[in-house]
Amino acid sequence: QVQDERAARIPRYVRVNTCLWTAPKAVDYFVSKGFRQSGPFGSPDNRGFAQDPHIPNLFQFHPQISFQEDPAYKDGRLILQDKASCFPAVILDPPAKDSAMVIDATSAPGNKTSHLSALMEGKGTLFAFERDKRRFSTLETMLAKAKCKNVQPINADFLTVDPLDMKYSQVTHILLDPSCSGSGIVNRLDYLLESEREEDPSQEDRLNKLASFQVMIIKHAMKFPSVQRVVYSTCSIHAIEDEHVVGEILKSDEALAGGFTLAPAEQVLPQWSRRGLPNEMDEPDHASSLVRCSPDEDGTNGFFVSCFIRKEKESSKRK
Ligand code: SAM
Repeated sequence: QVQDERAARIPRYVRVNTCLWTAPKAVDYFVSKGFRQSGPFGSPDNRGFAQDPHIPNLFQFHPQISFQEDPAYKDGRLILQDKASCFPAVILDPPAKDSAMVIDATSAPGNKTSHLSALMEGKGTLFAFERDKRRFSTLETMLAKAKCKNVQPINADFLTVDPLDMKYSQVTHILLDPSCSGSGIVNRLDYLLESEREEDPSQEDRLNKLASFQVMIIKHAMKFPSVQRVVYSTCSIHAIEDEHVVGEILKSDEALAGGFTLAPAEQVLPQWSRRGLPNEMDEPDHASSLVRCSPDEDGTNGFFVSCFIRKEKESSKRK
C-alpha cells in the first residue's frame, strides 16, 4: 500500500530514443495526441508534460499516463525509463566517434545500453554483456526494437572476459549496473525486468554477498588497459552496496595500481544536489562526487551512481 502511494507520486518518464527520433518531433507528436507542454501536473486533466530539467531528451508526464500501447513506444522511438536510471549513461559520457570502444558489462534488459548507444550517436562499438540466457534474449529484442546499430550483444559473464584480450584493448569507458538488492525501487512496473529484486533486502549477509560481487566486478573493469572512466550504479539505497563499495574500491590494489580515483563532483551531474552520504565514507569529502536519488523526495526510484576515472600521470600532464 505504502509502496503504491510512493509509486503514484513518481512521474511517468519517457525517453526519446535519438537513434530513431528527435525531441522536437516527439514534442509535436505529444501535442498531436492532446498533451500540453505545461509541466507534468500543470493541467487539471493530467494532460500536461515537461522536458526533464536534468536529462536531455527525457520527458515527464502525469504518473497515471500509460505509454504501453502507444505506437511510438511499440516501435522503439520512445523508451520508458525512470529518470534515475538515465543518470549512469549521462555520467559515463561515452564518446561519439567511429573509434569509440565502450562496454556495458551487465546489460539486460538494455535500457542503459540503448541510452549509451544513443549518446554515442550509433558510432564506434558498444560491447553489451549479459550472463543470463533468458535476460540476454530480452536484451536482443530491446536492441533490435531500438535500432541500436553500434551494439555487439554478448551472452557471457563479464567476470570471465580477459581484460587483456586484444578485442577490448581500446575500451575506454565501462558501465557497471550489476545485480543489487533493488531496495530503492518503489515504481516496480518500470523496473520489473530491469532489476533482479532480491526477496529480503534487509538481510545483512545477503547485502554483504551482493557487495562482495559488486566490488569484484568493479575491480575487474579496472583491469582493462585503456579504460579511463568506470561508472558503477545500483538501484539500492543501502550504503553497504553504495558508499561502502566505493570506499573499498578506493583502497583496493586494483584502484591504486590503475591510478583510479573518484571523478570530481563537477563531472558527475553537478546540477543534481542530492549527493552521497558523507558519514558512510572514510573520507567524507568524497561524498560530493557521488549521486543519490531519494524515492520520497526526488520523484524517482532510489538510486546511486559513482564514477571512477584514471588519474592523469604526472608525465602526461606536463605534455
Ligand atoms: N543495466 C540494465 C538496464 O538498465 O536495463 C539493468 C541491469 S540489471 C540491474 C543487472 C543485470 O546484470 C542482470 O540482467 C544480470 O543477469 C546481469 N549480470 C549480473 N552479473 C553479471 C555478470 N557477471 N556478467 C554479465 N551480466 C551480469
